[in-house]
Amino acid sequence: MLASHFHLNTSKEAPADAEVISHQLMMRAGMIRKHAGGIYTYMPLALKVLRKIENIIRTEMNNAGALEILMPVVQPAELWMQTGRWDAYGAELLRIKDRHGRDFVLQPTSEEVVTEIVANEIHSWRQLPLNLYHIQTKFRDERRPRFGLMRGREFTMKDAYSFDRDEAGALKSYDIMFNAYKKIFTNLGLKFRAVNADTGSIGGSRSHEFQVIADTGEDLIVYNPDSEYAANIELAEAPCLIAERALPSKALELVPTPEANKCELVAELLNIPLQQTVKSVVYSVQDEEGKKSIYLLLVRGDHEVNEVKIGKLAAFKHGFELASEEEIIEHFGSKPGYLGPVNTVKPIHIIADKTVGNMSDFVCGGNQENTHWVGVNWGRDLPEPMIEDIRNVVAGDPAVDEPGTLAIEHGIEVGHVFFLGDKYSEKLKATYLNEQGKPEVIQMGCYGIGVSRIMAAAIEQNNDDKGIIWPLPIAPFEVVICPIGWGKSEEVRQQATSIYNYLKDQGIDVILDDRDARPGVMFSEWELIGVPIRVTVGEKGLKEGIIEVQARRDKESQKLSPSEVNSYLF
Ligand code: ATP
Ligand code: MG
Ligand code: MG
Ligand code: MG
Repeated sequence: MLASHFHLNTSKEAPADAEVISHQLMMRAGMIRKHAGGIYTYMPLALKVLRKIENIIRTEMNNAGALEILMPVVQPAELWMQTGRWDAYGAELLRIKDRHGRDFVLQPTSEEVVTEIVANEIHSWRQLPLNLYHIQTKFRDERRPRFGLMRGREFTMKDAYSFDRDEAGALKSYDIMFNAYKKIFTNLGLKFRAVNADTGSIGGSRSHEFQVIADTGEDLIVYNPDSEYAANIELAEAPCLIAERALPSKALELVPTPEANKCELVAELLNIPLQQTVKSVVYSVQDEEGKKSIYLLLVRGDHEVNEVKIGKLAAFKHGFELASEEEIIEHFGSKPGYLGPVNTVKPIHIIADKTVGNMSDFVCGGNQENTHWVGVNWGRDLPEPMIEDIRNVVAGDPAVDEPGTLAIEHGIEVGHVFFLGDKYSEKLKATYLNEQGKPEVIQMGCYGIGVSRIMAAAIEQNNDDKGIIWPLPIAPFEVVICPIGWGKSEEVRQQATSIYNYLKDQGIDVILDDRDARPGVMFSEWELIGVPIRVTVGEKGLKEGIIEVQARRDKESQKLSPSEVNSYLF
């Protein structure tokens, strides 16, 4: 690629709405352009990165025996009604009508469609196991789309679905995917951690998140350096401990109430079946003057993986008085009724001095004068103040039920693997005939990767004050050749072109900057874009028989002879 034929449009300033470094740098590097909240065009540089990420994922998915398909973005509502998710998914599900008034959704995920396919395609045990995946546009009407590609509304996901004869087979498929994910994130050149996203691995359910380690990550990972233990902090052991840390303000003090540990009360309030796995704690919180109190519930456990269905919205306020429907409507702008889908039940977060507008994110929430609402976060984003507070977490607490002390780091969820069992296959009648000719329900797993989010996560993990530092496997270009004096020196042109042709022949993704720009301007532009290796060819160096090679990650450049450049690069 010649830079004169490429579209480069970098800038020194990032737009005001770009809060995190990856968003700022992607905008400044001219990689993405915004049209609406969470909706972007991928410019040529970004699309190159996206395709490389996709291909690394595709390769390992294929190696793991998964088969690629392409399912539609627009899906009929009937399927979503059949699984109950038409109601359960909440406001994140974008619903549309066609010209005949029929309801459709823009897919946020594809369990319904893929299960319908399998229900029709699979008849016999001989056809299983099967793993189908696609890399496709998703749409989620996020409450707060932000951070550029990190939390978009339209984004690219790889989602895979495994189909097995029985639970043992499904768990094997899960492990195959788990291992494929490890390879994928290693091959992407990212520092990551696989964390337990399960509250207790009861009922055969199993779930892991893959987290890219970055200080700016929205998730907090707690892990024991001396063991295998690693969990999303929302699901970590000792929820009470976390609750204490999760106070909205330092002015508040946590006081256990007599109601503490009343699982029954919580279950009743939330109208959930009290299972062994549900643990709840009730606290009241008082401010310095001892006036206000906020009741805080912690609920952990895994009732219904991927779909906690609670019949009515259990909003309640101070003293556990159930809120009336009118009050709920007044507060949340919509009627009580659903709780949205959740993958796992997570501990509570208080919404302090802030009314939360989207009911689907919380069982209840909000705060009015002297009326403090209780909020239970069922697996959605944390409200802003909580993110700040949880950064106050101190590492070094003893590990639970094992030796070692806990360490804590921030992470960005880039992948999520899930054992589903018969959750979708039962409702959509995906069965097969077993060896005895008897119908049995297919056992499923689902496996997502945030393809476009990876681009942002990679930048969060790899940047400096000059710009992006791409990991080589996903860099938009692997090498940039910067000739000094392109317009003036025939020798420079020749040498730069010959290196360029040579690298191209070797299959290196190389760009030659033939725009005759001033060195300072040219260098800072490529540093911003983050190309991992820069080769500088100048007249002075050529006289001394030298070419300068600068690795983006290194401070010092290397002065090499043309033949040494060869061995440096290969
Ligand atoms: P989050 O907790 O960040 O909202 P999620 O748990 O809702 O993510 P999943 O349903 O597990 O997401 O989807 C699989 C993957 O898709 C996630 O691990 C994440 O990498 C990616 N993803 C989810 N939502 C978004 C989004 N709004 N923008 C970009 N990528 C996303
Ligand atoms: Mg989400
Ligand atoms: Mg999540
Ligand atoms: Mg997830």
